[in-house]
Amino acid sequence: MTKSEELFARAQKTIPGGVNSPVRAFKAVGGTPRFITKADGPYIWDADGHRYIDYIQSWGPMVLGHNNEKIRNAVITASYEGLSFGAPTEAEIHMAEKVSQLVPSMEMVRMVNSGTEATMSAIRLARGYTSRNKILKFEGCYHGHADSLLVKAGSGALTLGVPSSPGVPDDFAKHTITVEFNNLESVKQAFAECPDDISCIIVEPVAGNMNCIPPVEGFLEGLREVCDEYGAVLIFDEVMTGFRVSRGGAQERFGVTPDLTCLGKVIGGGMPVGCFGGKAKIITHIAPTGPIYQAGTLSGNPVAMAAGLAALNQLEEPDLYTSIFSNTQALAEGLTKLAHKHGIPMTYNVAGSMFGIFFTEAEKVTNYQQAISCNNEQFKAFYHGMLEAGVYLAPAIFEAGFVSKAHTAEIIDATLAAADKVFADVAH
Ligand code: PLP
Repeated sequence: MTKSEELFARAQKTIPGGVNSPVRAFKAVGGTPRFITKADGPYIWDADGHRYIDYIQSWGPMVLGHNNEKIRNAVITASYEGLSFGAPTEAEIHMAEKVSQLVPSMEMVRMVNSGTEATMSAIRLARGYTSRNKILKFEGCYHGHADSLLVKAGSGALTLGVPSSPGVPDDFAKHTITVEFNNLESVKQAFAECPDDISCIIVEPVAGNMNCIPPVEGFLEGLREVCDEYGAVLIFDEVMTGFRVSRGGAQERFGVTPDLTCLGKVIGGGMPVGCFGGKAKIITHIAPTGPIYQAGTLSGNPVAMAAGLAALNQLEEPDLYTSIFSNTQALAEGLTKLAHKHGIPMTYNVAGSMFGIFFTEAEKVTNYQQAISCNNEQFKAFYHGMLEAGVYLAPAIFEAGFVSKAHTAEIIDATLAAADKVFADVAH
């Protein structure tokens, strides 16, 4: 029995499924999740001492690579002064100023402790600000696990609120309209049917929770126009794309400005941090300046702010993104070429430092229905082969992959060399 197997068996006695977040349990691919003991740069190590090149990167935060020295030192230094005060600090001002500088549409920001809190609060704000109840989201987009966002999409058709988890009352879910990602017509139709009821559109500007699906041309611009026409709030959930698909996020990359933005992951440098913000005229409606309630005992935590600031300050490095992006492109393109060499149908998507490979005959994947139609058996075989070969990919076909500054050209080459052998096995 390996140490990971032993720990997994033990964990399941006191932790549901042995994990504190479901995807970690390897349900989609089978087998035993690796219990991790340490991480550095592009690598993580498991409890059995195996080293892996890591393309999960803690599900996105580690754009600078694991265990970044400046972030680590900032955390150590801040912790000497105390772990939490429950009172305002100068670090929170630095953070707000930094976020506004990097993402100018975020004129004012409120810190929270996770991406889920950020989206949940932004939605409450949009509802309170517009005095409307309904929200519009997209099939396959994930915005955390708040009730109104856990709503299943119906296959391509406009679906009015079917909860995707027991525990979400139908009465909540009925206010969530779900339409197809990258299909502007479905958005227009929803607004035509409920012109005065939809408070906001919330969208992952690059979908990263149904593998990696960038917006088709005109899609984000179209959402902006629809929101302007109907007086709805446009919310970009940049929890994943923020500081990752461009220094200023997807809104900078695609040149479309939302009213509100949600951030998480990179903004905490590895600590539990989220944030939402946007137009001052909207966000000042939250307490204490406005009546819409939002709060948090640990929000703006000084150690977390120190980590986040140390991360954001390093993003100014010239050429940082150019080099990460070209390595990401080389990886996704390289994997696809190798798959083809071994007769395995594949296509890929890349957005900055996010990538996705799809085991499919389709030339391009642009929506959820296509993403879920990929060959899961081939993916599973590839996944386990790569894991054996020392490459740690997300254990499900629905997750984007992440490349960091620490994934140098040599690391990408090593990954491709491993993939060449694994594809050969998968093909037989
Ligand atoms: N929004 C997006 C786009 C995400 O990818 C995630 C998490 O993966 C969330 C929100 C929720 O963030 P958290 O897991 O920090 O609550």
